[in-house]
Amino acid sequence: MPLSDFHGNPDVVRTAREMLAHDRFPHAVILSGPTGSGKYTLAQMIAKTMNCLERPTSDGLPDFCGRCANCIRIAEADDLEARFAEAVEVRENLRDADKRETRILVQTHPDVTVIPPDPPQMLVKVDQVRHVIHEIYYKPVEGRERVYIFSDADFMKEAANSLLKILEEPPEFATIFLLTDNPSALLPTIRSRCMHLRLSPLSSSEVEQYLEKYRPEWKPRERELVSRVCGGGLGRARTFDLAAYLAARQDALTMLAPALRSGEHSDLFRVTDTYRAGAEGKAKTEQLVRTLYSLLEDMLFLKSGTAELVRNQDIQAELARMAESVDFAWIVAAVQRLGEVESGMRRNLLRSLALDSFATSLER
Ligand SMILES: [Zn+2]
Repeated sequence: MPLSDFHGNPDVVRTAREMLAHDRFPHAVILSGPTGSGKYTLAQMIAKTMNCLERPTSDGLPDFCGRCANCIRIAEADDLEARFAEAVEVRENLRDADKRETRILVQTHPDVTVIPPDPPQMLVKVDQVRHVIHEIYYKPVEGRERVYIFSDADFMKEAANSLLKILEEPPEFATIFLLTDNPSALLPTIRSRCMHLRLSPLSSSEVEQYLEKYRPEWKPRERELVSRVCGGGLGRARTFDLAAYLAARQDALTMLAPALRSGEHSDLFRVTDTYRAGAEGKAKTEQLVRTLYSLLEDMLFLKSGTAELVRNQDIQAELARMAESVDFAWIVAAVQRLGEVESGMRRNLLRSLALDSFATSLER
């Protein structure tokens, strides 16, 4: 997908491309916007456009080809979640002494580095910024521009101060992106040294339009459900596994049912029994937990009279019945217990048992 196909926020994208065309792209940019507005996608696209070997144009403005060696290698980091998980796993397998000294970075092209927040605190640490300081002043190796993308610009204090040193004197051939959904959390001294590009959230109807193009096999009702469940996140919406979601939702409803009617457990155990150990079971359980959250949230929306926020609108009548039979405290407690199931999963406790105890604990 070329830069000209970036969905939403056409004015911001045009501004960025005009600056590229005139070789006036700033050295430090805050790219803000809510989750799903495409901050990371846009930063990656600009990094490709800066370094593309073919340098095509579209609509008279710079774009990238998507097939040259630079574009291909930068694109390997498009799936940041996967690259991040790999980097974390590599570190997990190191000896303890090395583990402490290894910071999470994603670098699929020598001139383009993504700096995600470092777990478990999920903050950018000073050693990550030091890595950037260490290499940013060397000229690009295979591209024209060194690009550093802080995918979630949430810094530890010392890291923010180190970053400030770079921003005071950035080299000619480098661009730093700070991606955030909350720009006011950045230090004022950082903000004042960056240009600020703001991406607005996409409306449900914009997401539905987008899905009409990329998932034409879905019915309008299904597109509406997906756009609501994904909260305006295009990448998530396009790759959404609707069948898996609907299956998980059916299971989630079965799990919540005995809590509301009390008594019959055989359905519940039949469902939880299908959530097994292993990688596949883990993904399936995570999906179920996410779906349970979304149903409980919808019940809260219904209870608080904000039905327009309900995401699972296609089963709203059923959710309304469920919401009526419980009170706020019950839903809040259920959300809390679900959090416990999640932390149990991180500690690798047996999944089906955790799910059973979650469901049975909901009974009044
Ligand atoms: Zn290219």
